[in-house]
Amino acid sequence: PLGPQLAAVREQFPILAQTARGKPLVYLDNAATTQKPLAVLDAMRAFALRDYANVHRGVHLLSQRATDAFEAARARLAAFLHARSAGEIVFVRGATEAINLVAQSFVRPRLQPGDEVLVTAMEHHANIVPWQMVCEATGARLRVLPMADDGALALDALPALLTARTRMLAVAHVSNVLGTVNDVARIVRLAQARGVPVLVDGAQAVAHLPVDVQALGCDFYAFSGHKLYGPTGVGVLWGRAERLADMQPYQGGGDMIRTVSFERTTYADPPARFEAGTPHIIGAIGLAAAIDFVQGLGWDAIAAHERALLELAQEELSHIPGLRIYGTVAGKIGVVSFNVDGLHAHDLGTIVDTEGVAIRAGHHCAMPLMQRYGVAAMARASLGVYNTEDDVHALARAVRKAHAMFSA
Ligand code: PMP
Repeated sequence: PLGPQLAAVREQFPILAQTARGKPLVYLDNAATTQKPLAVLDAMRAFALRDYANVHRGVHLLSQRATDAFEAARARLAAFLHARSAGEIVFVRGATEAINLVAQSFVRPRLQPGDEVLVTAMEHHANIVPWQMVCEATGARLRVLPMADDGALALDALPALLTARTRMLAVAHVSNVLGTVNDVARIVRLAQARGVPVLVDGAQAVAHLPVDVQALGCDFYAFSGHKLYGPTGVGVLWGRAERLADMQPYQGGGDMIRTVSFERTTYADPPARFEAGTPHIIGAIGLAAAIDFVQGLGWDAIAAHERALLELAQEELSHIPGLRIYGTVAGKIGVVSFNVDGLHAHDLGTIVDTEGVAIRAGHHCAMPLMQRYGVAAMARASLGVYNTEDDVHALARAVRKAHAMFSA
């Protein structure tokens, strides 16, 4: 599907053109973080070489240029998510900080003892722990929407879990372990019928499918730049304007105020209200360039390419004796998690690495999900736009080798 374009895509990622352990590097850890194309690195470098200064403060030329570029990046992000305005884009460190911001600034002040926050069985720790912290601080209770073995959420159970005490529903758009694409629009409709706001953790979605926050209908959407071919240390919280306007900041500092005296401080309007301190200016520039890169490839081409590789990977792995794949629900994307009988996921990952193949092994920051499947760990291969059929063949060969070593 990327066809002849694939070679040009790979040229954007010189890091891939190296050997690892004496074999051609095969990078299949994209759900953890993606590599950065030259287009992103060049945009950051050009900005640093010509326009860099602090934003929003200076009257001088460079400060104005830096501010213009930073705000242009914000507008780019707004268009990317189909937000109604750039004012709905809050720059944060990543998905984790975005969720903590909503937990502390939106949910915590609204929680009374006995209230509930609802999450799902497949959440990443970043979409569990911040809610648990505000529940513990207020006497509220964390509740969990269950899921089926195939990796689909049990949406039939959702209405009963949306009670008069539910103050927030937090759900992953795409599972980082199972690849399930959750039906967020339907979940939001059910929640909003009960007046429950919804935060969507889009960390694993934004690199694989187009996101339209207005069509989803959610209240908040969080993601990290580094899983979208952009830099680490920068991410986005999108919040519906009315919600952001109704929130107090939880971090204070420069740039988020209107006036300060020792007696009293008044806060700036969103998004500045939630961006205390100097932001990751160069990161925002890089993230905007990453969006240009991804959209330049086109969502249809990306989806078709990754779907073909995912099907190939699942097909090849399924022939390996004793191998179990987790997450088989229709429409899954991006990742294939698995275990091989008699082999610890860590040993599997280590042996595969000796073949130059980079995958992940562990709990994938989703310990409750591991418990759900009764395992301590899984191996996970995850796809990016630059992966090839040869990468998938190398993965299957390396897993076969690991299986052979341990069954010998
Ligand atoms: N949510 C999901 C589904 C993720 O996969 C991740 C990253 N593994 C996060 C949240 C957290 O992202 P970050 O560490 O970049 O804040």
